[in-house]
Amino acid sequence: MVILTFSLAALFPAYEGHTAATPEVRGLRVGENPGFTRLVIDADRRLDVKILFLADPYRMVIDLPEVRFAVAAKGHAPGRGVVGALRFGLFRPGVSRIVLDLTRPVRLSRRFDLPPRGTGNWRLVFDLRPVAPADYQVTRKPLVEVNGANGTRPSPAQELPARPKARPKIPARPLIYLDPGHGGMDPGAPGALGTPEKYITLAVAREARRVIQASGRYRARLTRERDVFLPLRRRIAIARAGGADLFVSLHADSLKNRRVRGATVYTLSETASDREAAALAARENKADVLAGLDLGREAPEVADILISLAQREAMNRASHFANLLVPELRKRIRVRRNAHRFAGFVVLKAPDVPSVLVEMGYLSNRQDAAMMGSKAGRRRIAEGLLAGIDRYFSELRAASGS
Ligand SMILES: [Zn+2]
Repeated sequence: MVILTFSLAALFPAYEGHTAATPEVRGLRVGENPGFTRLVIDADRRLDVKILFLADPYRMVIDLPEVRFAVAAKGHAPGRGVVGALRFGLFRPGVSRIVLDLTRPVRLSRRFDLPPRGTGNWRLVFDLRPVAPADYQVTRKPLVEVNGANGTRPSPAQELPARPKARPKIPARPLIYLDPGHGGMDPGAPGALGTPEKYITLAVAREARRVIQASGRYRARLTRERDVFLPLRRRIAIARAGGADLFVSLHADSLKNRRVRGATVYTLSETASDREAAALAARENKADVLAGLDLGREAPEVADILISLAQREAMNRASHFANLLVPELRKRIRVRRNAHRFAGFVVLKAPDVPSVLVEMGYLSNRQDAAMMGSKAGRRRIAEGLLAGIDRYFSELRAASGS
């Protein structure tokens, strides 16, 4: 039996406040056996689990009460047997999630818990046997809500009302929503220096909020305050419900070519400006799938971005903001050539809030990773954002005569 074990200490305790009462997962092991693949969760106590099987692609989702994962820094790991890869993290407050990418259809053939023996850990055991595609049982009733606290999935119409709020006046202190990309069991891009994207984006967003608020000219809020998963459409809904005047999603990309560095600012478009932009948007739009959401009938919309007429105005403003932001970033950090690009990012689809997505640099490049991982680097990004925001709103004010 081949066993793969991930048992590094959790490297980011500073990001989360956990008490001794929080259950701890201490190991996630996938082993290959004749005829079946075994997943073992080592935990400091017995845990309630909810299991879901999803299709397109085949995934197994295990929901646990909120736990501390004392198992690996990266939040994702290679698999074995029928498990192609696995990810884990906070799905929402109170629920931690493990997502297994399945290489083929399976069924749960055995499921049992073993009490501590010597190691002090409970072992939660899941045995998976390959089955024919026709015998794969998709979980019909999702055991977890996708969005909101009422346990139902809001329809796209509820999330994105067709009639955007009219907001002709520029408020005295415009509200900037900063959206730290990824989170929870969606770690985003791995980091060359070990810190995955989800922590980098949160750290930059916090610094940007501090710098923007300190200017006294704006209010700034985050879509997520901690290492928790947020569906892409939920990020939009939060910003719209909060009355955002501008939405800035923060990301850090990763490429095979480790020499590539520099920031890029993306705005929404039906057609991507180049193949790289299209590939990036496809990767970012997959966040909900990676996190174990059953997109069901929403999936085609994720693949094909259809832009409504109402969105054009917000898109034009976003495009204008991006053009002002790029030179301000360039004064402070490395920026790529043709730094304003276009692609169909789901998170930029708010019909009435100008939205941009900033890829702050490449985590696959050591210098970029070090810049984003340093306090000074994060401050330069934050100051670049503020300078771009200043130019944008002063131009809007000049144009509207207010
Ligand atoms: Zn990202």
